[in-house]
Amino acid sequence: MMKHVVNLYHCRTCSFTRGRGKHLASPSASLNHAPSPRFRHRRGSRFIVRAESDFYSVLGVSRNASKSEIKSAYRKLARSYHPDVNKEPGAEQKFKDISNAYEVLSDDEKRAIYDKYGEAGLKGSGMGTGDYSNPFDLFESLFEGFGGMGGMGGGRAARNRPMQGDDESYNLVLNFKEAVFGVEKEIEITRLEGCNTCDGSGAKPGTKPTTCKTCGGQGQVVSSTRTPLGIFQQVSTCNTCGGTGEFSTPCKTCGGDGRVRKTKRISLKVPAGVDSGSRLRVRSEGNAGRRGGPPGDLYVFIDVLSDSVLKRDGTNILYTCKVSYIDAILGTTVKVPTVDGVVDLKIPSGTQPGTTLVMSKKGVPLLGKSNARGDQLVRVQVEIPKRLSSDERKLIEELANLNKAELANSRR
Ligand SMILES: [Zn+2]
Ligand SMILES: [Zn+2]
Repeated sequence: MMKHVVNLYHCRTCSFTRGRGKHLASPSASLNHAPSPRFRHRRGSRFIVRAESDFYSVLGVSRNASKSEIKSAYRKLARSYHPDVNKEPGAEQKFKDISNAYEVLSDDEKRAIYDKYGEAGLKGSGMGTGDYSNPFDLFESLFEGFGGMGGMGGGRAARNRPMQGDDESYNLVLNFKEAVFGVEKEIEITRLEGCNTCDGSGAKPGTKPTTCKTCGGQGQVVSSTRTPLGIFQQVSTCNTCGGTGEFSTPCKTCGGDGRVRKTKRISLKVPAGVDSGSRLRVRSEGNAGRRGGPPGDLYVFIDVLSDSVLKRDGTNILYTCKVSYIDAILGTTVKVPTVDGVVDLKIPSGTQPGTTLVMSKKGVPLLGKSNARGDQLVRVQVEIPKRLSSDERKLIEELANLNKAELANSRR
């Protein structure tokens, strides 16, 4: 069990809207897919699929499709909807939907849950759907090590360079008090780790890569065209090796990627004062890098369950207490629930309806400085009885007469 130091980020964009899945691509640069010119020339090819959220329809496969059918359907669709290839409006969303669907249907466990309970079941099981993972990571992991996307490979240098792993995300739900006071949670994350069989190289142990004969290991080929204006030379990626310049026997464990998806439990210290929309970063616990590149980070997105009586307003806690009109007039002491337990609160005599009383330092600790706390704000709701007993009515009428007499006196 590893302990982690957690850095905390507040997402300014979504702390109110909670659109966490959607903005995932923006909080960190490494989640953004750098546009790579090598995809550009594929632009234009386009598939039309039905816009249904059912994962099988999204991929256009039947419910009893085999794993390889699902994989080839995904690859086909992902190629044509990749935002670098397809500039049509909605293509990026489509690409994410496709990746989402594939992430679930390619995983036996997730697929079984999805078949039984639908998307809601995946969320309930804490597995989540692809909403929170990076669709580009999925895309890259399928196309890397398979010779790339046909002629789309870049130069050899680019392909063999170490690459940092993608960030991974995790959705953590806390109850009201856990968020207020902080908590230590053990979470189970699934991410790509370096393959032990091949030490991350992707090549079957004991095998040596052979140089591509077409390009002589350069990953690029030069073609010359004779025209009336002279000889034009064009450099393009070698189709035979996809730009890698060599062929290696893929490792059986990782299929040539050098990484395998693994599950790990880590202990997470959630600081006091987090709220829905808070984001924790656990350094280097994201996906492993490629070819010796550093791992990505793990981002933990916090969602806080609401409490039935206490409402959170930043570092303050809001509560409404009801007192009778008599108690409001005469004053009383009421029992008020707080995050520290039930506390006596004095309602002064003559308290007006809608008055807010401040219970100092009974609110939420400030993030990063847990000795400073917000307040609990208690709004006093004064209840006027709808019915009176005859005795009560008599007394109130006496009060009314007393009032009239006093008024008459003061005018005299
Ligand atoms: Zn080649
Ligand atoms: Zn391997």
